[in-house]
Amino acid sequence: MQLLNGKETAKAILDSLEIDVAQRAASGKKVPHLAAILVGNNGASETYVASKVKTCSEIGFISTLIQFEEDVTEIKLLEKIEALNEDMDVDGILVQLPLPAHISEKKVIESIDPAKDVDGFHPINIGKMTLGEKDAFISATPYGIMLLLEHYKIETKGKHAVVIGRSHIVGRPMSILLSNNSNPGNCTVTLCHSKTTNLKEICLQADIIVAAIGIPEFVKADMVKEGAVVIDVGITRIKDASKKSGHRLVGDVDFTNVAPKTSYITPVPGGVGPMTIAALMKNTFKACDNRN
Ligand code: NAP
Repeated sequence: MQLLNGKETAKAILDSLEIDVAQRAASGKKVPHLAAILVGNNGASETYVASKVKTCSEIGFISTLIQFEEDVTEIKLLEKIEALNEDMDVDGILVQLPLPAHISEKKVIESIDPAKDVDGFHPINIGKMTLGEKDAFISATPYGIMLLLEHYKIETKGKHAVVIGRSHIVGRPMSILLSNNSNPGNCTVTLCHSKTTNLKEICLQADIIVAAIGIPEFVKADMVKEGAVVIDVGITRIKDASKKSGHRLVGDVDFTNVAPKTSYITPVPGGVGPMTIAALMKNTFKACDNRN
């Protein structure tokens, strides 16, 4: 079994981006500028946005964090997005999800200029990704997983990939990317969800399993074939009195028992999480490069 080290791989990607940004700056070109919108006081969202902003400054990007109170109106939020769409200095816009219930996520996502949609959630980018078009912005978590597979030169062609979870931001795009005629890609894909019957039997046929469910340690050793590649997207914070912080992060895979059966597996934390931020930064650099 070999660990797919997302932390190290993300660092290599970010180091390379830092050099690219410095080169842009040295040749008088503008540096990438990411605008992040945070609504309300969701602790997890605050942590995610803070680490995106921090990463921007570490690699030489400009970032602007725009914060709204929980009760901000949908109209006010849409007006801000429109202003950012028009702002020539801003290359990438992200709105941290989830949003409060009174705001339509669909409306918000669709209001972002697709050329600045570095989260890759806009229907135009999802359509382009589905068609395998190179200029698509691919949502950061699936894109990060593809970069990880590429980095470790994992053979995906002709393999049976089973994706568990069909969310718009992880499972569904992951299933499309793995089935596209690309490298990594060219898998035969089965997409599973909560209504899937025989999940265990399907998983046992998988050469590659991507678990994006949100249920801690859902994937057990008796669901995994010897030698499979296992990608664990799940991150759930559970109480742990033995930790100084009082909690620990757990993935969707029962790592202790599954890992010995696998050829490659991602740890939690330090697997998919850091790759997601690296992929977002790559998208932001691309948005800047496309526009300037
Ligand atoms: P989500 O929107 O809640 O989707 C969960 C999916 O799992 C749904 O499609 C659901 O099926 C399916 N599911 C639920 N119970 C199931 C069961 N018993 N058997 C099979 N499928 C089942 O979650 P998400 O946003 O995709 O996130 C999934 C996990 O990844 C979460 O832990 C989240 O925190 C984590 N995450 C991590 C990163 C990262 O950067 N590492 C990024 C995003 C998300 P239905 O569609 O039928 O309901």
